[in-house]
Amino acid sequence: MFLAGESAGATITSAGEPIRACITRDRVGLTAHALLLPSAPFRCETDQRTLGPGSYWLRSAPLRRSGAVNVRSASLWQGTVTLYAVYADGVILRQSVDQQGASRRMQLGAMVEVALPHRPAPLVRLLWHVDGAANLRGILRDVELTTVDESRQANLVLGGLYAAFAGLCMALLCYNFALWVALRHRFQLAYCAMVLSLLAYAISSSGYLSWMYPDIANNDRIRCNYLSLGIATVSAFAFARAFFEERVFAGWMGRSVRIVSAITVLASLAFFLFAPWNVWFFDRLYSVAFVAQMAMVLPLLWRAWALRSNYLWVFTLAWAVPIIMATVRVVSAFGLIGWNFWLDNSTIVSMTVEALLSSVAIAYRMRLLSNERDEAREREIAARLLADTDPLTGLLNRRAFLHHAIGREGEQILMIADLDHFKQVNETIGHDGGDEVLRVFARTLCQSVPAEALVARMGGEEFAVVTAAETAFDPENILASLRAERMPFDVTITASIGVCIGALEREQDWKALYGCADRALFEAKSAGRDRARVRLLSHHHPVQAPTLAALRQ
Ligand code: GH3
Ligand code: MG
Ligand code: MG
Repeated sequence: MFLAGESAGATITSAGEPIRACITRDRVGLTAHALLLPSAPFRCETDQRTLGPGSYWLRSAPLRRSGAVNVRSASLWQGTVTLYAVYADGVILRQSVDQQGASRRMQLGAMVEVALPHRPAPLVRLLWHVDGAANLRGILRDVELTTVDESRQANLVLGGLYAAFAGLCMALLCYNFALWVALRHRFQLAYCAMVLSLLAYAISSSGYLSWMYPDIANNDRIRCNYLSLGIATVSAFAFARAFFEERVFAGWMGRSVRIVSAITVLASLAFFLFAPWNVWFFDRLYSVAFVAQMAMVLPLLWRAWALRSNYLWVFTLAWAVPIIMATVRVVSAFGLIGWNFWLDNSTIVSMTVEALLSSVAIAYRMRLLSNERDEAREREIAARLLADTDPLTGLLNRRAFLHHAIGREGEQILMIADLDHFKQVNETIGHDGGDEVLRVFARTLCQSVPAEALVARMGGEEFAVVTAAETAFDPENILASLRAERMPFDVTITASIGVCIGALEREQDWKALYGCADRALFEAKSAGRDRARVRLLSHHHPVQAPTLAALRQ
């Protein structure tokens, strides 16, 4: 006999006192009165699931309970359940619970609860007649006797747990959907679908659905469980598919996942629509699809590892918890470890971890995406810089110089500087020395022109400067700085400069201005080098450098 004192408080999961029941198959002519006799043919050590679907009688061990009491049992796919409560004074109370009756008596955690009134004589036995049990997970499961307070307490604890989960889901949904509106990553939508269907599964499988719709047939609520869980796992795979790099799902992996997902959707829909015809068959079909899906997880993770996916670790974490929880449940079902509250509610724990870690995964993925984008942008900037600059001096190259110079509004000063006798310089101090001279000259040039001037190396030992005509600019300064500059091997370096002033708005302007400056440069070279010559575009006579300031007036 199961003693109340032994079992009360032995486990955290039970709201009250667990009850074991012995079982016999229903036969024509069996009556409640006959089955309450000690000689009734009950078997006590039978695994209910081996008996298959059908109608059954179950009888509790002798009890002794006074006061109002609730008889709770897990909701299962079955027809009408009739409960006979036998009291010490010989009174038998009978309550029939049909599909809608089960919904109206539903408690959180999907427990159906039958309330027995307070009677002067104690309750001594319970007898159930279960009609049309599908017996997928048992015929009568998790039976316990609770007081009214214990029932209320159990609802409160589970209500808090489910409400926390629902709140989490709503928050994750809102912000991931908002992110999707802004960023349009496909994995965000798949994630929202997953969280939404997990939420639907929690609402349905917790029994809360029966609170929302008390007239729903309980088996219909169970059909909703199958459908929402099926959709949740399919959207978890859709999420993985959109989330991982494309290479992970390329080829056979993508095809297999698509096929298994299609089978799962079909099996879930088939159960939802046709389960009443043959619940056993559609449950098996569903289980096969489910196992096939679980079987995809390891190859998928292995492949992600082999292909060095960046997202492997977050996914392994997110999926490990549901898988470990399922394994622990199986181990516990074999009696190898004790049952406890969290194990009992492992589904909600797994779903919470899955939803949370997937959200962390999304944040991680977005970080990698923005890193990639930043790197690409930096590479582009570097490439553009490389294409625009002269590698030896770091000045603009001819192409970039023309790009920036042509189109400037208003009168412009164009200056061309060419180092004198540079061939000889190379011959004297070597080509590397010559390079160094070019670098020093570039630096000197930059320091001697206005800050807003464009400075370029046009090729060889020829440099150009463009600046607006009204800026203070004197080529003599450049020549003076160059003379003062200490050069490699102390060679003396001079330059000749040609300057021309004119418009630079179009391509033709550039040709004219450059030709004019080049002529001025030629004049400077001819006049003995180490000097500057200035020309006006319209004039054909050179102007002495010091008159440049006068020209501006
Ligand atoms: P001029 O006074 O008439 O300008 O005489 P130049 O010797 O400077 O003129 P020329 O155009 O005959 O020679 C230019 C030399 O510049 C020839 C070439 O070897 C040298 N040169 C061109 N590019 C580079 C370079 O990148 N590095 C070095 N070290 N020398 C260069
Ligand atoms: Mg030269
Ligand atoms: Mg030259």
